[in-house]
Amino acid sequence: MQTVRRLSRPSRGILSGCLSLSLLVLPLAGCERQPSQTANPTPPPSSATPMPPPASASVSESPAPPPTPEEHAEQLAKRFIILDGHVDVPHRLFTQQDEGKPVADISQKTDEGNFDYPRARAGGLDAPFMSIYVAARYEHNGAYKHAEELIDLVESIARKHSEKFALAKSPAEVRANFQAGKISLAMGMENGSPIEGKLPNVEHFQQRGIRYITLAHSKDNHISDSSYDDRHTHKGLSAFGKQVVKEMNRVGIMIDVSHISDDAFWQVIALSKVPVIASHSSCRHFTPDWPRNMSDEMIQALAKAGGVIQINFGSGFIDDEARKQSSKLWNVLGGQAKAKHLVHGTPAYSAFAEDFWKTHPIKRATVEQVADHVEHVVKLAGIDHVGIGSDFDGVGDTLPIGLEDASAYPNLLKVLIERGWSDEDIEKLCSSNVLRVWQKAEDFAAEARRSTP
Ligand SMILES: [Zn+2]
Repeated sequence: MQTVRRLSRPSRGILSGCLSLSLLVLPLAGCERQPSQTANPTPPPSSATPMPPPASASVSESPAPPPTPEEHAEQLAKRFIILDGHVDVPHRLFTQQDEGKPVADISQKTDEGNFDYPRARAGGLDAPFMSIYVAARYEHNGAYKHAEELIDLVESIARKHSEKFALAKSPAEVRANFQAGKISLAMGMENGSPIEGKLPNVEHFQQRGIRYITLAHSKDNHISDSSYDDRHTHKGLSAFGKQVVKEMNRVGIMIDVSHISDDAFWQVIALSKVPVIASHSSCRHFTPDWPRNMSDEMIQALAKAGGVIQINFGSGFIDDEARKQSSKLWNVLGGQAKAKHLVHGTPAYSAFAEDFWKTHPIKRATVEQVADHVEHVVKLAGIDHVGIGSDFDGVGDTLPIGLEDASAYPNLLKVLIERGWSDEDIEKLCSSNVLRVWQKAEDFAAEARRSTP
């Protein structure tokens, strides 16, 4: 989700009667050691990590000291595939292009934004899902065309910098790219508006490489209701949206339940034959009554169906006070933008919003709080249902202290190591949980192809 996008949220107080006391108590409540630690009596990190051989054969020399949690985190970030469910760099680059500004070369270090090749490499990021983000304003107004433009843009990055990046359309391609030392660019479409009411477009976007679709974004669309929209147009999914879910199963596109309303979520869970993901959502437990995050019941149902929630790093998703501050500021910003006749989703709006947030900072969450969300999911549903969905380049200057950009994943791993996580569990968080769901979507589609002559 992007800073400017969140502004499209209806100007209303989302929180009613939120508990200031919970702010003090809830983040601590998520800090228990997760069950997997006791279930997995994994040896301490030192024995799990290959150690360099002793400098000489002398038995009198003391062995090399075990790695510190920081060193161990760095090693794991390099050893494991890190897959991030949501990175908004295509929108960042498209906006620059649209504004007539020089477009950043993300194969090199860039001064702005949260993602580029050097920072991804430093953080051990191997497979960011590039968000093909189509703002709600495109519904019935050029959504298909805009999605095509963004897909073209991602393809052009992979083509121009083929020594650093490669497209990835399957878990096997992610693994092959990892072996080849390249960063995989997978694609997920944020908002189903580009389907434009035509079922064959689902398969079209599958063929173009889209591997998940977030059914709606900030407003109800022709497929699904949005968590940010209180009209409840379809009371969940539209009749066409139900067909879209089945078609996504058939062609092998994962269903992303981030952004959709609770009713739509429950209907997806009942309808989908394949496990689903939340590509960039966090736990409502820490942000009571905020429907953009997932309730405990929803997380448990998602997990029971085999799915994964990929935790969003944005401070407003992680910390209740930050969210309350940002809710108030969205209203202020919305009013100011309206007074200036700025249309949401346009470059002028983006530029105004960017300046606004620079001068109206909100409380920043911490990497430890992000770990609390991760552990809350583990406590509710076990280790097999949590992943990472940073929302880098999508949440402006609201990233937590210690998770400011794509170089920072080892900081999160370090906190989990210090809390006693095994290497095996860290690998599940980093990618293997989501790769499992992705593979299931691929397998289901392959089977559907076999059984349809
Ligand atoms: Zn989003």
